[in-house]
Amino acid sequence: MNNLTYLTKIVKISGNKIVLELKEELNIDRLKTIFNGFDGERQAELFIKDPRGFTPQQRRFVFALMQDIYIYTGEPLESLKDVFYWQFRYFTGKDISLSNESESSVDEVSTLSELILDFIFENDIPFREGYEIPPQNTQYYFYKCVTTRTCCICGKKNADIDHFDKALGRRKRSEVDHTEFNFAALCRTHHQEKHQIGIAAFKNKHHVIGIKLSQEEIKKLRIGG
Ligand SMILES: [Zn+2]
Ligand SMILES: [Zn+2]
Repeated sequence: MNNLTYLTKIVKISGNKIVLELKEELNIDRLKTIFNGFDGERQAELFIKDPRGFTPQQRRFVFALMQDIYIYTGEPLESLKDVFYWQFRYFTGKDISLSNESESSVDEVSTLSELILDFIFENDIPFREGYEIPPQNTQYYFYKCVTTRTCCICGKKNADIDHFDKALGRRKRSEVDHTEFNFAALCRTHHQEKHQIGIAAFKNKHHVIGIKLSQEEIKKLRIGG
C-alpha cells in the first residue's frame, strides 16, 4: 500500500464540496505514477486535526534536534526519545507523544523542545546551520544562544554578544543601561556579516531575533565592560 498524507487548510465548504489549500507542494507526477498505472478514481480520506494539538513544524524540530544529538553521541533515536519523554513526564506528570493520534498540545511539545535544547546547549552538541525554529521556541532558543555564547546561526562556540537592534554608538560601554538593548550571539564571521550588510538585510536573511537580558545576566556575561 502506498497511502499518501498531505497537510492542508480547509478554505471553503459549500454543500458537499470542500476546498483545501495545501501547506506543502503536491507532486502530481508522483500521484500519477505511484499506484502502478491504476487509472481509476483517486479517493482521499479527510481527517480534521485538533487545532489545539502540536504542529508538524514542532514535530520536525524535535526530531531535528534529536538527530543532531544522535550524530554527535551515537545514541540511537529510540533511546533518546525514551530519555526526553521520561524527563518530560518527570517535570509535568504527563505523557507525551508525537504520533498522529497524539493528543499532546502545542505548549507540551514546546516544553519538550526546551528540555532537548537545554541538553544540546549544556553538552555543546554541534548543530546544523539554519534550524527551522517553531515560533513557540524562538525566544528560548535565542536566549540560550546568548547565555552560552553560541552563534545562533551556525552553532560555533565563544560567540560575540552583539548589541543587536541598535548600536552603542559613541556611548561608553560602562555608562549605558544594557537592559534596554537586545542581544544576539554571533560568531566572528556572522558578526562581521551583520555589520557589513546591515541589520535589516541580516534579519531578513537569517531570521535572528534579539533578546533582552537582566542586569544579573549582563554582569555574568561581562557585557557591561
Ligand atoms: Zn556588533
Ligand atoms: Zn556563526
